[in-house]
Amino acid sequence: MIQEQVIEKLSEDVKLKVKEYVQKNRQRLLDELQQLIQIPSETGYEGDVQAHIEKYMQNVLSLETSTFTADPEIVRQHPEYTESEVERKVGFANRPNVVGKWNSTGEGRSLLMFTHVDTVPVGDLAHWKYDPFEGEIEGDIMYGRGTADNKGGFGSILAALKVIQGAGFKPKGDITAISVVDEEVGGAGGAVAMVQQNFTADACVYPHPLTSGLGAQIACAGGLIFKIKVVGRAAHNLNGQIGINAVGKMLKIYNALVELDEFRAETVKYEPFERYYEASDMPIRSTNLTPAIIQGGDWAYKVPADCELTGTVGYPPNETPEEVKAQIQAAIDKVVAEDEWLQQNPPVLTWEWHTNASEISPDHPFVQLVKGNIDEVAGYETPIYGMPTFSDIRFPMLYMGIPALIYGPRGGNLHGANEWLNIEDWLKCVEITALNVLQWCGYESLDS
Ligand SMILES: [Zn+2]
Repeated sequence: MIQEQVIEKLSEDVKLKVKEYVQKNRQRLLDELQQLIQIPSETGYEGDVQAHIEKYMQNVLSLETSTFTADPEIVRQHPEYTESEVERKVGFANRPNVVGKWNSTGEGRSLLMFTHVDTVPVGDLAHWKYDPFEGEIEGDIMYGRGTADNKGGFGSILAALKVIQGAGFKPKGDITAISVVDEEVGGAGGAVAMVQQNFTADACVYPHPLTSGLGAQIACAGGLIFKIKVVGRAAHNLNGQIGINAVGKMLKIYNALVELDEFRAETVKYEPFERYYEASDMPIRSTNLTPAIIQGGDWAYKVPADCELTGTVGYPPNETPEEVKAQIQAAIDKVVAEDEWLQQNPPVLTWEWHTNASEISPDHPFVQLVKGNIDEVAGYETPIYGMPTFSDIRFPMLYMGIPALIYGPRGGNLHGANEWLNIEDWLKCVEITALNVLQWCGYESLDS
């Protein structure tokens, strides 16, 4: 079995060749990243950037390329499908996902590398100090829409492949690089369509800049969105004493949910998430429950007869969605048990949306390999942690059976003005990815 082959250490000579190639070509690598930033790729309008990437894969990297576009009828059948505003408006036409394959002799382990290149809109230009589509560099920072989220991530895949070739190597296992669309609105046109194709690999990396800096992320939270509806009894204010205030009834439920959140913060423990908050200098938790939207009442002179609460709960991979759902139901039931009106008019709880948690063991040989290369290039011991919200790494892990992880350079203002990427970190990530490929897949010299 290929999986069971011993993972060999990379020789100092190989590591040096990779590092030297990155250092000597840093300007060119950064120029090519800038070119990606200069092609707008707002979700729904990714055609131009994808055409550029396909050409780059063909002409510069000599990869075998193909594309696939989401079929609305087929993606709709997937459990993680969500219909987005963008899909309703522009559908999936001219929004291909681009695949580049670097085929090998097949002796080594294979690797899938994918991430999204669509971006959120620029927003109010008045808040931008830099041209969002220029990729201006000031000091160690490149600014622009998509630098951190996530053309910086996909650009690091292209750059790493170029570095491997430039340093004179080719992998012994197959490499599949996929640039996906539609991530910012749920991924129906991108990651969901991807898992319905027949890609296989022994491991997967998803490069993405992070505010927490260098380190491997091996898990992501599951997420549930729920809605609770409560009815009261309408009455004009002048007869207010005979009305039943639906907002007041909902407040009892709101308080019960806040209490449940505190209880969960005490009782639910998942170390990779705790390490994430520790690295981010925030109070430590493994879960969050937020009652987010409350809508009730429609007239100032009327006792409100309806109230609706929408909330979200994020849960770690060591809990099941059923357990979390049961806790929320129990919190509501406790309020109902102490309220006669609610006993006669029980609140209605519905589950609106669900995305699964996923994880890979920190002891998995691929995690250890990646951590080793991150530590080596960073020059210090980096953490292994989890992402306490949903993440695209669930797609390969849950639906393709491929262990996956995220790492990336420091970046910030994701979705905001003056979105930025630390270029020194980015170049380190290019080097890290090149080393991961060579070590995981094995390698031979390019001219052999
Ligand atoms: Zn992103």
